Amino acid sequence: MSTQTTLETAVEEGRCGDRLWLYATYHCNLACGYCLTESMPAIANRRTLSAETMIRVVREAQELGFGAIGITGGELFMLPGAAETLAEIASILPTVALTNATLFTDRLLARLEPLAELDIALQISLDSDEPDRNDAFRGPENFAKVERAIPALLERGITVRIATTVEDQTEDELARLCVLHRSWGISDDDHIVRGVVRRGRAELAGMGVTPGVTDILPELTITADGAFLHPFGPTVRHGVTDLDLLVSRQVAPLERAAERFLRLVSDQPVGTDVARNIR
Ligand code: SF4
Repeated sequence: MSTQTTLETAVEEGRCGDRLWLYATYHCNLACGYCLTESMPAIANRRTLSAETMIRVVREAQELGFGAIGITGGELFMLPGAAETLAEIASILPTVALTNATLFTDRLLARLEPLAELDIALQISLDSDEPDRNDAFRGPENFAKVERAIPALLERGITVRIATTVEDQTEDELARLCVLHRSWGISDDDHIVRGVVRRGRAELAGMGVTPGVTDILPELTITADGAFLHPFGPTVRHGVTDLDLLVSRQVAPLERAAERFLRLVSDQPVGTDVARNIR
């Protein structure tokens, strides 16, 4: 059976998703307390994928039958050519790109304008409607920067989703956050709420919940360290990448990693829900 057919069957059976994830870089301008990847400005090992590698992987993913791309990190926009790389990737497959939205200068916003014509969403982290509460999770001035960036992106016709990571927010607080995103014209379908996953820096801080084997839908995830079972796999503790969910060191050609991934998911029980999805 071809890799494409095996993937199609596994997706139909609910064994995995058809989205392929890329960890563009582990470098970030922020250092959130629950960060899965210990990302921060002074990170020693940035584990960056080059634009050429990302575009090559996405082309191969399309040929193998993957239906969508997710890009995460770290902060994608720490990379100089991120806007142009994103446009090229989104012209190949529908894409969601995760960002903290704190680096969107007027110049960068102008370079992002072509994204309005493409099937791409920028998924922006926002944890509270209260600036102080949000900034306690995510760093000084974070709320103010996000509050400026979102309307600026929407004005340019770029699709925006909001991602909220829940640790101790109250129900009222989360409800007010929904009022806020609706006031920007972002629907509830485009608001992703998830708990802190106890891996990476969150594990060291004793935050979040340890996911069970079937809690997270397998989705092939490519990083500079190799291919992983899902986007919560390639986390970092004490500067070292966790390898418990490593699928393959080999990512070129992508088909080798995809074959290994599909062999693993064929042996796994199918989960009932994806309670802590990253999308
Ligand atoms: S959670 Fe996101 S924004 Fe915060 S440090 Fe990690 S990569 Fe950066």
